[in-house]
Amino acid sequence: MISKLDKKSLNFKLWLYFISFAAAIMALLWLLQIVFLNSYYESMKIKEISRIGNELAAKYGSLDFENALVETSFNEGISINILDQTGKLVYPLDLFDILRQPRLNSETFSDFLARLYGSETDYVVYTRTDDRVRNPILVYGAILRNGDSPNYFLFINSMLEPIDSTVNVLKSQLIRITGISFLLSLGISLILAKWISRPITNITRSARALSKGDYTVSFEKGAYTEIDNLADTLNSMTRELSKTEELRKDLMANVTHDLKTPLTVIRSYSEMIRDISGESKEKREAHLATIIQESEKLSSLVDDMLELSRVQSGLRDMEMEALDLTELSREVLDRFKYFQENEGYTFQLTSNGDTIVFGDKRKLSQAVYNLIGNAVNYTDDDRRIGIKVEGEEDSVRFSIEDHGPGIAADEIDHIWDRYYRGGKSHSRRKTGSGIGLSLVKSIIMAHNGEYGVMSEEGEGSTFYFRLRK
Ligand code: ADP
Repeated sequence: MISKLDKKSLNFKLWLYFISFAAAIMALLWLLQIVFLNSYYESMKIKEISRIGNELAAKYGSLDFENALVETSFNEGISINILDQTGKLVYPLDLFDILRQPRLNSETFSDFLARLYGSETDYVVYTRTDDRVRNPILVYGAILRNGDSPNYFLFINSMLEPIDSTVNVLKSQLIRITGISFLLSLGISLILAKWISRPITNITRSARALSKGDYTVSFEKGAYTEIDNLADTLNSMTRELSKTEELRKDLMANVTHDLKTPLTVIRSYSEMIRDISGESKEKREAHLATIIQESEKLSSLVDDMLELSRVQSGLRDMEMEALDLTELSREVLDRFKYFQENEGYTFQLTSNGDTIVFGDKRKLSQAVYNLIGNAVNYTDDDRRIGIKVEGEEDSVRFSIEDHGPGIAADEIDHIWDRYYRGGKSHSRRKTGSGIGLSLVKSIIMAHNGEYGVMSEEGEGSTFYFRLRK
């Protein structure tokens, strides 16, 4: 399979990094081994011969000096000579040499002396060439002082082996190493890329399934933390999405049901007026009243839905002002006068007066309205609703109590969710969109307030929120 080279892919990038890394290491090796080997070798040799020479020179005068000379020259494979002031060999001498003491070539000797006396230290190291040998010779020289008598000189010669052949061996080795390391980095980068990208590929696959609406997918964790975190995040996102999806389906079912019921009522009452009650003023009025009531339900349902999206998109630009929560509650309560006058509800509003908060009046009114609306909706036959606005130390608490059916313990956490409507197992008594409380929640949260409910099934509920003063 030949796929087009993707220069942005993990595979390619890793391969590139590995190759560059290998190339850098190789370049360093080549540089050190081939280019600098010669000077490196030479400086090593110079160090070595200086050390040996200095050690020997230090032993001059001691009893084992001659022994040391012999040992060193054998062990290190170097030629060690002692010369006198005229360049004559003093050591080593064999029997015949005593008769005709050999002497260093005068040119070499004077060069040696010049360098030795020119040196700032007690010794000198330099290279010289000799016509009789092919390679340059490394020379060490030191003065062996004899007090008042003429001095002797330590004269050590060591061959500087040519390293060309070594370099050639190294070169061919390095060529192989370079090839192998390039192949290795190719292989490792491929394996590594596979290893790193596999979890990503898996996640991509799951994400694709998710985007097609499969909320059952789960994102696999990988061998490293970053992928684990990503998978966790995506998994929780999927859970949220599927919750939203469920809520959406619920909403569709609820809303279509809630839209349809009033519409059916409106339609059948209209037909009744047309066919039957049109002539009788009394009946007609009654039927028209029902139609009006149902259309009001419809419009409040639509209002709720519009308000929700508006509040949620508009929470960022709130118009904050100082306002009296008691005053605001009274104003909102006024809108429920109808229920008080016609349906036998009693509303009792108590306040301790110290109830000024800082907030968006319109939005807080909406929250209070929704809470009162719910109490009215869910209070059953009792129809007594108590509202308290209490100033506390640095906050104001609004609470509303009804004596309705209360909320089941397993539902109490969900009622603040958008589109959630309680009492699913029972037949639903009231129309509603499941939006009211989620609006309250959004509004109070936008004010950095607290909210909650205390409720016991069969006893009633108390909803509350608390805002900072
Ligand atoms: P809706 O009232 O339109 O169904 P809400 O978001 O206002 O939507 O309320 C969500 C659910 O919380 C309701 O369906 C109901 O089960 C429960 N609930 C809200 N207020 C009360 C209350 N005062 N008493 C009992 N249950 C309530």
